[in-house]
Amino acid sequence: MDDLKFGTRNKRGDWAPSAHAEIAPFWAWPPQVLKVLKWLVGYIWPWNAFHMAVTLLYWYCIIPNVETMKTLSWGWALWLYAMNGIGIFVMYGAIEFFYYVKRRQGSRFKYNAKFPADNPSDVFWFKSQNIDNFLRTYVFGISMWTLVEVLMLWAFANGYAPWVSWSDHPVYLAFLVFITPAIHDAHFFFIHRAIHWPPLYKWVHSVHHNSINPSPWSSLSMHPVETFIYHGVALWHLIIPSNPIIGLLQLHLAGYGAVNGHIGFDKLELTEGATLDSHAYLHYLHHKYFEVNYGGDGLIPLDKWFGTWHDGSKQGQAQMEARFEQKIARINARQNPKS
Ligand SMILES: [Zn+2]
Ligand SMILES: [Zn+2]
Repeated sequence: MDDLKFGTRNKRGDWAPSAHAEIAPFWAWPPQVLKVLKWLVGYIWPWNAFHMAVTLLYWYCIIPNVETMKTLSWGWALWLYAMNGIGIFVMYGAIEFFYYVKRRQGSRFKYNAKFPADNPSDVFWFKSQNIDNFLRTYVFGISMWTLVEVLMLWAFANGYAPWVSWSDHPVYLAFLVFITPAIHDAHFFFIHRAIHWPPLYKWVHSVHHNSINPSPWSSLSMHPVETFIYHGVALWHLIIPSNPIIGLLQLHLAGYGAVNGHIGFDKLELTEGATLDSHAYLHYLHHKYFEVNYGGDGLIPLDKWFGTWHDGSKQGQAQMEARFEQKIARINARQNPKS
């Protein structure tokens, strides 16, 4: 597929989309009904529908029964770790294998023309972004994810959290399912903004930002503190009246959903003519420029409200540069108060 019909390529070979990111259209006034309806289809299909299907598979085939989960034990915790590990290996590994190892579409639709495997760097374990990111995913990422999962399920099983049943409140729970991506967006924005505070950045978040040119294995390559609070989004379902299956969906939006920001390609070519949108560009810009797009893709447009939105346009770039200049001026003024 000709990616230049959808974007431009610079001298370095980096590709950028022509269409600029927009916040979710239901924030617009007056309401744009048709646009909202079209957006709704993309909201559900394919990514959120995928997470819902995986969650149902977990609930019926993987999650132990409630009696077992009343007692904390290594047995079912390790079982869940193994299942999460296999799930991530299949999903992330498939994207890595076809698009980064086999390079089936070369660098078409690729934001950064370079592939991490071709650029060894001292910042990574064994000088390899892939090995470093893969190991961190399994040692810290999936273990903290599983810890949150075990705590949440154990709390539900013991009645420590308000467990709402589907037969009593189907409409309320369906609504809660519908807004799980919004809960994710808001939670992610605020924890992410917090770990960009310089002392926390240095201690915690810099690990994730070592990957300036992210690839699938970068998604959950985080410091253990970050990956715990990131997956901790599921613990909101112990506070709000909810149901463990929705808590699990919330967890999967974080765990399996993390890959979306780190695919590195705007579109994955599936077959001749059929592509899958990654929704990766906003978070790619975050990895490139650090201080923009702390949240997701504008579902809850907190970046817009806090002035850190970069939609990929020239105007977005100019706004970011103006903000950086102001920041430098403030730092200079603090260091040289008399000048
Ligand atoms: Zn990232
Ligand atoms: Zn960050």
